[in-house]
Amino acid sequence: MPPRFGTVLFDLDGTVVDTVALIRESHRHAVRTVLGLDLSDDELTANVGRPLIDQMRAFSDEHADALLAAQRSWNHAHTADLIASYPGMDDLLQRLHEAGCRIGIVTSKSRPTVDLAFEALPEIARYLDDVVGLEDCKTHKPGPEPVRVALEHLNGLPGDACYVGDAPFDIAAGNAAGVATIGVTWGFFDRAALDAEHPDFVVDDIPALDALLLGGGS
Ligand SMILES: [Mg+2]
Repeated sequence: MPPRFGTVLFDLDGTVVDTVALIRESHRHAVRTVLGLDLSDDELTANVGRPLIDQMRAFSDEHADALLAAQRSWNHAHTADLIASYPGMDDLLQRLHEAGCRIGIVTSKSRPTVDLAFEALPEIARYLDDVVGLEDCKTHKPGPEPVRVALEHLNGLPGDACYVGDAPFDIAAGNAAGVATIGVTWGFFDRAALDAEHPDFVVDDIPALDALLLGGGS
């Protein structure tokens, strides 16, 4: 059975790598030290998936630069300890690769932060054909540009491509770029938040994503 999509694009955080604790605690550190505020988990992660500076502006426009610096230094110092892979994701990437899919990452993260994640989890980086990050685009999710740039790099057609992500911004970006959109509920956002952007599919675990992309079985 051929794969459902020839080009499979993934968001990174909360989709392919488990950075939920890392990002939430990095944000908590920044907001606490720069603004003296204690926010709830949901408040801290409400804008994850957008560029980091925009997330910091949402906490405080005036102190966004200081928040960014505090977030980055804490995040980089704790990546190796707090980042984790989702069990089965490396196997799914390998199986997609073996089925002939081109695999891309489309993230709002900056390159140095992406590289740190792949250094910590080299098994995830092995089967990727392309990574589009913050520096590769002028405009960001929820706009379509990052997904379009990845399609261009991979010679993919929107009608034969999907974007898999855990955030409503991912679904909006994929829909705007004309690719199929697949929401996943194991990251930062719940099903209701994803459904609000009208994804083509929503899956709750990696076996369900595997079945959707590859027809299931192993
Ligand atoms: Mg994400």
